[in-house]
Amino acid sequence: MADSTPTPPRRKIWNYTPALPIKTAPYWDWPMKPLKSMKYLLQSWNPMAQRFLFLVVAFVVWTWFSPDLERAQTLSLDWMFEIWLRDLVIIMVVAGGLHLALWKHRTQQDEYRYDMRPMAKGAKIFYFKNQVWDNMFWTLGPALLFATLWESLMWYAFANGWATMISFDSNPVWFIALIVLIPVWAGFHFYWLHRLLHVGKLYTWVHAWHHKNINTGPWSGLAMHPVESFFLFFDTMIFFFLPANPVHVLFLIFHHVIGAPTSHAGFENIKLGKDAKFGLGDFYHQLHHKFFDCNYGTWETPWDEWFKTFHDGTDEGNDLVKERRRKIWSSK
Ligand SMILES: [Zn+2]
Ligand SMILES: [Zn+2]
Repeated sequence: MADSTPTPPRRKIWNYTPALPIKTAPYWDWPMKPLKSMKYLLQSWNPMAQRFLFLVVAFVVWTWFSPDLERAQTLSLDWMFEIWLRDLVIIMVVAGGLHLALWKHRTQQDEYRYDMRPMAKGAKIFYFKNQVWDNMFWTLGPALLFATLWESLMWYAFANGWATMISFDSNPVWFIALIVLIPVWAGFHFYWLHRLLHVGKLYTWVHAWHHKNINTGPWSGLAMHPVESFFLFFDTMIFFFLPANPVHVLFLIFHHVIGAPTSHAGFENIKLGKDAKFGLGDFYHQLHHKFFDCNYGTWETPWDEWFKTFHDGTDEGNDLVKERRRKIWSSK
């Protein structure tokens, strides 16, 4: 006889999700899918999406809002301060603007919002007992400082010939190739740093600060222990090994300076006008904030699938993570 006990309905975790199961990039599928991968790559460069925006901002910032390299030949606070100030403005516009629109004035109510939990107030785990203030403090303090320092170091290196500088005219093929490769490098560095930060005391002492944010808002993206923000921007040091243009450096840095606030915005899209929308959120990473032991990387990196830590957003994915957690605890 069939079991007639009704299974209790599952508690609804999300207010909104993208189509489930979420899918990762086909780059690493076996057998290889070259056509599908090429299509996916081209889509990732959609001019109406974030990646393209980072690149445009990198060009604009290098052309009009960066110190001349001649000044950067000697380390001096005046040009470094200009970089700090410009990044401050960018972060205030992106994180501050998104916070005001989506969370404070709620311009689109709960449309495209992942998690219905509010930004925490009165919770002791946050500095100032306020999630947004805590997040702003760690973003505008250490994260902004390290973004400035690593960028300044690259300018100093270019200006003094320690790092090889190219231009589009001198190396057009490498110039373009590097633009395509930088997001791959950003994903690689992010995964391995992040995976390491989930090990033992590194988690408790360092990365747990970022994970205070179970639900995330735009200010949560760069809200982390100073040790973590120090190493997050460390990926810039790749340009000591690869010939590059300052635009490449900025393009990589903006993956964090702009990309972290947008990907943590807590909303899949921001609505622009009545029908238009712009993709912001990263449900892949939102799942990581909710379940911890899954989705350490990004849509485009293969390791979560290879190491069986991929959560596809479905109920089966939830069970898988719970089962992993149970095994880990019982083995302790
Ligand atoms: Zn984490
Ligand atoms: Zn995060």
